[in-house]
Amino acid sequence: MPVPFEQYLDSRLDELRAQGVFRSLRELQGPPGPRSKIDGHEVINLSSNNYLGLATHPALKAAAIDAIERLGVGSGAVRTIIGTMTIHEELERLLADFKHTEAALVLQSGFTANAAVLGSVLEDGDLVISDSLNHASIIDGIRLTKADRRVYAHCDMDDLERVLEEVKDANYRTILIVTDGVFSMDGDIAPLPRIAELAQHYGAVTMVDDAHASGVLGAHGSGTASHFGLKNWDIHVGTLSKAVGALGGYVASVSKLRQLMEHRARPFLFSTSHPPAVTATCIAAINLLRSAEGQRLIDQLWENARMFKAGLTSLGFDTGISETPITPVIVGEGAKAMQFSDELFKAGVFAQGIAFPTVARDKGRVRTIVTATHSQTDLEEALNVFETVGRRMQLI
Ligand SMILES: *Cc1c(COP(=O)(O)O)cnc(C)c1O
Repeated sequence: MPVPFEQYLDSRLDELRAQGVFRSLRELQGPPGPRSKIDGHEVINLSSNNYLGLATHPALKAAAIDAIERLGVGSGAVRTIIGTMTIHEELERLLADFKHTEAALVLQSGFTANAAVLGSVLEDGDLVISDSLNHASIIDGIRLTKADRRVYAHCDMDDLERVLEEVKDANYRTILIVTDGVFSMDGDIAPLPRIAELAQHYGAVTMVDDAHASGVLGAHGSGTASHFGLKNWDIHVGTLSKAVGALGGYVASVSKLRQLMEHRARPFLFSTSHPPAVTATCIAAINLLRSAEGQRLIDQLWENARMFKAGLTSLGFDTGISETPITPVIVGEGAKAMQFSDELFKAGVFAQGIAFPTVARDKGRVRTIVTATHSQTDLEEALNVFETVGRRMQLI
């Protein structure tokens, strides 16, 4: 006989406790912002992906409310039955224009966008080559396909070339190279120009997941390919949940990929489309990104990122290889990183601690993300807290 269900759950949870990774959820008590009330403490929030503050932007809130009044709160069906509303098509045309691609298709989240496109493109007889630090949604998306898979060392173009060379005579129908644009743990940027070169040489298809680049990198925040001025990139996945401020993911590419996904992408076929409020919010957000105000917010984001990164470095912290508003503060052992995060929190700064297995055993860290809405005072105060706690813990 199997064990009773709660006993089974206890044993599973005890495993987590024994590994020291069991934790409960922190609660954000109010809207997301540069300063937030978290678990009863007023803190400077350095752990949000709300890069531009759009999650609470008045124009976006107004767009959502207006859409609810005009169109209701739910779409009532999956896209392929009768859940494709005019507003969904409007957002997709806007995204295709924004990304300079023929077409775009919106999914319920960035996570499902990856699963949707990988599941549509890859079949038995195909190969996918993936960066070793790609996001969980790419890894899971690949697992759901019957394609062969290879992994190359993180951003290591010699290793990618080695893999391509090894498989060049294996007669794959399609070879897809997939990478995050901005990596969420180190804040480094994938070398897309070299990937594109290798892909062209070996006849591979290229895909980038721009979750942390959407609204952050490139012209008006249009992504990593734009950042590098690349025009021959095949598949762009973006998220509408981070800098864009609402919820969703999209795939921007040629029209034929959209057509294939309409028939093959399981999250598209079998899960209900976004409510009008979400879609209207995203339309308002993309329009805002393209306006002078959007550009000001992006400029402010990068100015804040530079200032905060320089401050951490001059205090003597190890900020790794970050090139973006994601800045890790690497302290070594995982337990130390978690303690650092706890001490920062008590002193008024929320920065998530990250330990093995999310990062290497000796690369435990707290991860900071500044936003455009942090003031100079917020950032100076946060740096003071890092200095005080860092000295007390003998990290600097
Ligand atoms: C956050 C993230 C996702 C998931 O996006 P959601 O819209 O939150 O589902 C996908 N890929 C990467 C690289 C991410 O950082």
